[in-house]
Amino acid sequence: MIEYENLRKVNQRFFAEFKSSFDEFVNSGWYILGKDVTAFESEFANYCNVKNCVGVANGLDALILAVDAFNFPANSEIIVPSNTYIATILAIVKAGHKPILVEPDMATYNIDPSKIEARITAKTKAIMVVHLYGKACDMGAISQIAQQHNLEIIEDCAQAHGAQFKGKKVGEFGIGCFSFYPTKNLGALGDAGAVTCQDNDYAKTIKSLRNYGSAVKYHNDYVGYNSRLDEIQAAFLLVKLKYLDEITAHKRSLAKIYLKNLDDKFIKPQVHPDYFDVYHIFNVRVQQRDALKQYLLDNEVKTEIHYPVAPQNQIAMKNIITETDFPISDEIHQTTLSLPISYFHTEDDILKVCEIMNGWTK
Ligand SMILES: *Cc1c(COP(=O)(O)O)cnc(C)c1O
Repeated sequence: MIEYENLRKVNQRFFAEFKSSFDEFVNSGWYILGKDVTAFESEFANYCNVKNCVGVANGLDALILAVDAFNFPANSEIIVPSNTYIATILAIVKAGHKPILVEPDMATYNIDPSKIEARITAKTKAIMVVHLYGKACDMGAISQIAQQHNLEIIEDCAQAHGAQFKGKKVGEFGIGCFSFYPTKNLGALGDAGAVTCQDNDYAKTIKSLRNYGSAVKYHNDYVGYNSRLDEIQAAFLLVKLKYLDEITAHKRSLAKIYLKNLDDKFIKPQVHPDYFDVYHIFNVRVQQRDALKQYLLDNEVKTEIHYPVAPQNQIAMKNIITETDFPISDEIHQTTLSLPISYFHTEDDILKVCEIMNGWTK
């Protein structure tokens, strides 16, 4: 069986380093916001080429705090792609604002910059982009629109650690919101997240928000949260961060095998020199997606669907997203299939998947 993911196998080679980090952590006697959180924040900011990183509890909180820190008037409008994981949209709602969905570009699966301006109103305050599957958005066009309309840019980088557009890393274009959920390219051994930014005052606000809205103990400046990056997760992340470029290189080499060997009856991800893709997910699209998924399972290859239900069709969104006409997003949701591309997979695993896929005759 070729599994889709196996986190024990992914983390196996780091076990010895995790164990020594754990021993040090236990012996330190300091379990919340200690030296490892500070060290990880500094190293991850450095990795992302930004001045500040603030560790938070998870990716959803990173997005919520990022929106909250701007202190927009209640019920402001925030532009977001219709083709995203639900967390992006939940964050806007939880922060007290209205998500305005914009269709993706079928070539990249990311928000279509040419469709953004039509959705901007006097109430629009920000564009929340999502670098889906590990491909950066077209940040040239998006940054220009944001500047022209005086909008903030918030980047959901949960699937795109280290991905680049024209040599700049995701998180360098606006406020970067990261998840280190165990399956992400940089994955902790539990929940973890971070917000990155250039502005020192904005970083201070996020730091305060994650800790009850308090910068000085027992003095509360904001209606804050308890959303601190756990010290032990920071310790594990410090280990993994050293290998992130290697993890990315491995996933890119597996993607290359798919791109070279898979038949053209499968619509493969676009490759373009402006984009450095990190392949959190490697998807193909086919009309008979469910039949292909079953065929692969019958041949001992496990796959996933990201995502089976579009945000506008979620029960939770029925009074929040009132528009229903998102044909491009619907088409992607109905035709996309995610193939194995984990750190533990070998080139032979992927060649085998290609061989089985190419043998599919519907
Ligand atoms: C994983 C993910 C999140 C949420 O991160 P958590 O750490 O699970 O809260 C948000 N957005 C996208 C696009 C994701 O893939």
